[in-house]
Amino acid sequence: MATNGSVLEIKNVSSGYGEVQILWDVSLKLERGKLTSLVGANGVGKTTLMRTVVGLLKPSKGQVNFNGTDVTRLSAHAKAAQGLVLVPEGRQLFTDMTVFENLEMGAFTGRAKENYKQNLDRVFEMFPRLKERRDQKSGTMSGGEQQMLAVARGLMAQPEVLMIDELSLGLAPFLVLDLFEILRRLKNEGLTMLLVEQNVQMALAVSDYAYVLNEGQVELEGPSREVAKNEDVRKAYLGI
Ligand code: ATP
Repeated sequence: MATNGSVLEIKNVSSGYGEVQILWDVSLKLERGKLTSLVGANGVGKTTLMRTVVGLLKPSKGQVNFNGTDVTRLSAHAKAAQGLVLVPEGRQLFTDMTVFENLEMGAFTGRAKENYKQNLDRVFEMFPRLKERRDQKSGTMSGGEQQMLAVARGLMAQPEVLMIDELSLGLAPFLVLDLFEILRRLKNEGLTMLLVEQNVQMALAVSDYAYVLNEGQVELEGPSREVAKNEDVRKAYLGI
């Protein structure tokens, strides 16, 4: 069972690539139904943390608890089957496959298969553009449409926790606004989310709680509204 309302708890995680350590003793909690953001500059280790949490990288130290159970050593597939789902940086769509086929691929977990039709209707209602382009090869769509598809595919896995790595990267501002609106909607529907963003201002505006990562360590954490007022954050990330 969940403890203290937190769904996901990352405890003192260190991780990296072979000999190269990137993360140092990182701890982070996701409260149920809240949108948490993880912000920081380029290359500070945000993606490395996501990859470690979902099981694509093994931490050298520390623990990941999901609903109060230690899942640190589970495979990425097993974690996804339990509802821990990542929308990866760079989208990683099947570009030769259609929108519909990509969505089908998202529904690979047991419970997602069971509720496939209902989830498909839901994502098509949420992203009418994808419904229109259902039979188009995903690689031929615009960057914004591909990002919508990546989020929609994540939703097809019926996540309990959805982690999104770089939602806004490379997208036109109006599309970014649309995607952030979707996040608000998902939050209102009670989904627990972790948003990794280089767009610190947007991330702080939409999230409830925020962590600032710097050089592989948590530099600051707190309610997003307070983090946005922090003098150092304003200077370093908000250009104020
Ligand atoms: P970005 O937003 O640019 O992706 P990030 O905060 O997500 O930044 P990471 O992608 O986690 O940062 O990268 C952290 C560090 O790990 C960087 O110095 C990067 O060069 C290094 N790194 C990433 N992938 C590998 C890899 N496969 N092998 C070795 N080092 C890597």
